[in-house]
Amino acid sequence: DVVTRFAPSPTGFLHIGGARTALFNWLFARHHGGKFLLRIEDTDRARSTEAAIEAILDGMRWLELDWDGDAVYQFARADRHAEVAQELLAKGEAYRCYLTQDELAAMRAEAQEKRMPFRVRSPWRDRDDGDPALPHVIRLRAPQDGATTIDDRVQGEVTVQNAELDDFILLRSDGTPTYMLSVVVDDNDMGVTHVIRGDDHLNNAFRQLALLRAMGWREPVYAHVPLIHGADGAKLSKRHGALGVDAYRDEMGYLPEAVNNYLLRLGWGHGDAEIISREQAVQWFDLAHVGRSPSRFDFKKLENLNGHYLREADNDRLAALAAPRVETLIGRALTGDEHALLAQAMESLKPRARTLIEIAEGATFLFAPLPLAMDEKAAKLLADAPEGLLAAAADRLRALDDWSAEAIEAAVRETAESAELGLGKLAQPLRAALTGRAVSPGIFDVLLLLGRDASLARLDAAHN
Ligand code: GLU
Repeated sequence: DVVTRFAPSPTGFLHIGGARTALFNWLFARHHGGKFLLRIEDTDRARSTEAAIEAILDGMRWLELDWDGDAVYQFARADRHAEVAQELLAKGEAYRCYLTQDELAAMRAEAQEKRMPFRVRSPWRDRDDGDPALPHVIRLRAPQDGATTIDDRVQGEVTVQNAELDDFILLRSDGTPTYMLSVVVDDNDMGVTHVIRGDDHLNNAFRQLALLRAMGWREPVYAHVPLIHGADGAKLSKRHGALGVDAYRDEMGYLPEAVNNYLLRLGWGHGDAEIISREQAVQWFDLAHVGRSPSRFDFKKLENLNGHYLREADNDRLAALAAPRVETLIGRALTGDEHALLAQAMESLKPRARTLIEIAEGATFLFAPLPLAMDEKAAKLLADAPEGLLAAAADRLRALDDWSAEAIEAAVRETAESAELGLGKLAQPLRAALTGRAVSPGIFDVLLLLGRDASLARLDAAHN
């Protein structure tokens, strides 16, 4: 049975690359009807924070990447990790190393002088006359001959000469386990069958393999996914979108299904499908179609996808998501009726919007007080409107007994016809007078949404 895991270090938010790793692991597990586990790698006590853990869990919940069972906290398992180090020691697969800091520094300096890569070659590998009462670390007795090949599901076969590996530390002199040891023990104990992660961990995989072979444990399948780069090909930075997923939600106004779809396509493909539902993704996801080259982050694509998902989304849900943004923009709370109006307006607002921010900005005219604030373009449209045109429109609208879509449309069309103007020529100043903007939902929708009283009040205010 397939078991995958996502193993973030809680030293910051859930960044977008981590979210993609989590998504791939989630999809792979769900595709195979397996388990997706979450392990919080909180062994770096100085840098791991409670807030970062919360941010990661929050980001995963937002993206609906539900994990099976309880999250595993790595630090809490330190005793188990140390126990494995002792077991390796007892089996002769590890040894006590008494090299001092000074000796190590001298070795490092020597390597530098010879322009050789620094690899610890501890004399204690072959000595057993150390005194365990003295400070020491425990190192893995890594293979030195031959080579190790990983048949990576994304990178293909990757081979490293064992001479290039070092006897890395398992247990520090204070008895605490190293990251390398903890990862291998946890993956084994959690029954992880597939390790899917960023290719910045590919080098670690060779060391981890040496360790688990020393324990005689089952080897997982590895899949090292190329990292995400910026649109310009450079390493992903904040400017490129290397932000926490919370920023995609809060600051940029994206929907989680759009972010998931985007992240999926970023590094994985299924023919030329761009819009891929969660169900399809679960059905189709595989490691064979994960790309081998770094993918480039493209905000335009994400925005287009988000526009698509906004148009698909349920209007009440969108209204609930947009309401706090609208309230911030207008500086007050919405009333119950206004919440209902916002939901009603959603169908007209969403065709034009690519983000929830745009939806909220597009909605504020509905709740604006008189006199209506005019943006520059709207003011110009009003100034340029033919004399008496808005008054004529107001008169026809005022005469309606029935404020229905059909009646409104007829009144507006008749106004344009009798002024011998195209509908657009009337719609522009009408829109300006009703919304204070040059861009808004269709003019009939605007009139219908605002209702009779507000529409007439705004028209009267504009032409008087
Ligand atoms: N904690 C590591 C990271 O956040 C991931 C380790 C792993 O996936 O093996 O980069």
